[in-house]
Amino acid sequence: MTKKDNSYWSKKLDSFSYKILREAGTEMPFSGEYNMHFEDGSYKCKGCGNLLFESNSKFDSGCGWPSFDKAVKGSVVYKEDNSLSRIRTEILCSKCDGHLGHVFNDGPTETGMRYCVNSASLNFKK
Ligand SMILES: [Zn+2]
Repeated sequence: MTKKDNSYWSKKLDSFSYKILREAGTEMPFSGEYNMHFEDGSYKCKGCGNLLFESNSKFDSGCGWPSFDKAVKGSVVYKEDNSLSRIRTEILCSKCDGHLGHVFNDGPTETGMRYCVNSASLNFKK
């Protein structure tokens, strides 16, 4: 997929998802529609439909955002983010560069990872 410009995304996405995906926004904790959502299925990028996470990697981290212990291989890219005076790792969709959230290495499962993702950047498919 070729990279799209802002006018493409502002037409395709609702304004809230635009803020998250294209401007690296963060939804309020415990507000997102997938925070406590545990149905079987897959989570895709709201921008481009790229398959990002499977429901069997989702867990309740208590942090207020949908959390996963692994991403589908090759679906996300990792970028160092120094914006809050501490180093975090930003995660982005590998196909459209949409901002998804951050990943931390304090996960409780065997992968040790906690992908903390905005609901507004995801679409769930059963
Ligand atoms: Zn995408």
